[in-house]
Amino acid sequence: MSECIFCSIASGEMSSEILYQDARYIVIKDVNPVSPFHVLIIPKEHIESMNELTDFGVISEMMSIAVRIVRENGYAEEGYRLVLNTGQEGGQSVLHLHLHLLKILSHFLAFINLGSHTDYFAFYLHQHAQNSSSYTIYNTSNPSIFPLP
Ligand code: 5GP
Ligand code: ZN
Repeated sequence: MSECIFCSIASGEMSSEILYQDARYIVIKDVNPVSPFHVLIIPKEHIESMNELTDFGVISEMMSIAVRIVRENGYAEEGYRLVLNTGQEGGQSVLHLHLHLLKILSHFLAFINLGSHTDYFAFYLHQHAQNSSSYTIYNTSNPSIFPLP
């Protein structure tokens, strides 16, 4: 098994929910989604980050795959986010280049009184169906994806 999670997923050694793949790219659902639609567009070749990238055509191809997925899913008009984290201070946790595609959403802030100070976290309530009383709470506090005010 490869030491790199995304190399293992790209080679099929490790399973994941695959939305799309071709010879050079794979699109999977993020295992820890911060919104109802959160996928990762990953080049199959192991490129650690933007800093190791020499062929910037890769970025163009990742973007074009992302936009195609958005259009196919009918999210283009509502809006979406494309996020690419680089390095430790850029919030990159998996050292294999990847582009996050997230359906845009408005998140709520909950303020918690901890006695000495007030803390807050961001969340998004996803209603399962119109008029349904069933919701999923997505924690959107991950600052690498949703910068907090
Ligand atoms: P980063 O923080 O590096 O920009 O994003 C890495 C993303 O990969 C995170 O959102 C994390 O949830 C996701 N991730 C980490 N390990 C796995 C895995 O084994 N499978 C899938 N599908 N996603 C993963
Ligand atoms: Zn890799």
